[in-house]
Amino acid sequence: MSETMYLIKNVKLYTGESVYPDGAILTDGPFILYAGDAAKLTAPPLKGRKIDIIDGRGGICMPGLCSAHSHVAMTLLRGVGGGLPLGEWLQRIFTVEALLTDDDIYTGATLAIMEYLRYGVTCFADMYFRANGVLRAAHEAKIRANACVGAISASHVAENEALFHEFDGEGELIRIYFGIHSEYATDKSVAHLAAETAQKLGAGMHVHVSETSSEVEACREQHGGKSPVEYLSDLGIFDVPTIAAHCVHVDEGDMAILASHGVTVAHCPASNMKLSSGAAPVAAMRAHGVNVAIGTDGPASNNTLDMFREMRLAALLSSLSTRNPASLSASDAIEMATVVGAKGAGFSEVGILRSGYAADLIVINGAAPFMATERDVAEDIVYAAAGGDVQMTMVGGQILYINGNYTTIDTERAIYEARAAMSRLL
Ligand SMILES: [Zn+2]
Repeated sequence: MSETMYLIKNVKLYTGESVYPDGAILTDGPFILYAGDAAKLTAPPLKGRKIDIIDGRGGICMPGLCSAHSHVAMTLLRGVGGGLPLGEWLQRIFTVEALLTDDDIYTGATLAIMEYLRYGVTCFADMYFRANGVLRAAHEAKIRANACVGAISASHVAENEALFHEFDGEGELIRIYFGIHSEYATDKSVAHLAAETAQKLGAGMHVHVSETSSEVEACREQHGGKSPVEYLSDLGIFDVPTIAAHCVHVDEGDMAILASHGVTVAHCPASNMKLSSGAAPVAAMRAHGVNVAIGTDGPASNNTLDMFREMRLAALLSSLSTRNPASLSASDAIEMATVVGAKGAGFSEVGILRSGYAADLIVINGAAPFMATERDVAEDIVYAAAGGDVQMTMVGGQILYINGNYTTIDTERAIYEARAAMSRLL
């Protein structure tokens, strides 16, 4: 965590609660001391410290983005299985994944974190079949991360528990949840064990839910008519804070269960479209009181980790699938991609730029052409900006990416290692 004080000025400030045309942010170590109108900022007590000034050059300063569902190590599988539907795609993926070493997973995760940081993502929630390499990469890069093992067997749950004891709360940037891959890939006893262990340790859960219609049909056939949401709820999975990825095929009864348990749904529009899974009923879930966040999913089914594109797709897909252009506003999409995701990943006081909250923020380049006609800041963030417009990314008060440079990642080495792994794998 940073000990530096930064003053970010000359920015249009989108806090998640208000917009300040001439805004300023003052950070003190990992937290925000002031976020608001530049003219109202008074000099803070310095106690012998100096303030580093960042000139935002007329750009937009906003909360960092949170990808609520990912498999970051899958950068090494990008391009595998293109054109296949989910079932066949997974089989192809599992074959290549079987070859991955822990170091490959670390390398793939580091590459993904590079992409996340340059695209303004300050937080992600990850599931993988081995999570140690993901956590090593996140810890070294100093990005905010939640990770779990997507358990299929009891040994995965034991591995997840060992990671919980090693990493949870590490530097306040890391949270460990327990994971089960899904209703269809994880048997009942393993799912039950994961839920029980999560409850005992006060951790959350992360699971793929109702991604395809065939998954829901097979579940109803196998489990006495229960949908995956009903089945998982009856197993006690949702009795702890849970991230439910996808929820594309959910009915009103499912939505009521998700809402009453405070489950965070991670909506992954690009992945759902690429694998022809369908359009999640995001507006209906929100109307039922479900917390809906946004995730990139893994880079093998997206294939980018650009959360700006993901926000744009979420808004466009909602508009198309409901035939109602007001079904998901730009500010709704930003809220889903920031504070809702961070909360779902177990981080409170993250995702809004407010005094006392974490200094997780980004600056969008004021020289980007669309900024010359900037009119509605939320519309511009969601529909006009892209990850490549991000100039600076800060997590916990520390600058991790600025003007093409990374402060915590040896990028040449990461790219060299990724190329070496790729030539061995494929
Ligand atoms: Zn997934």
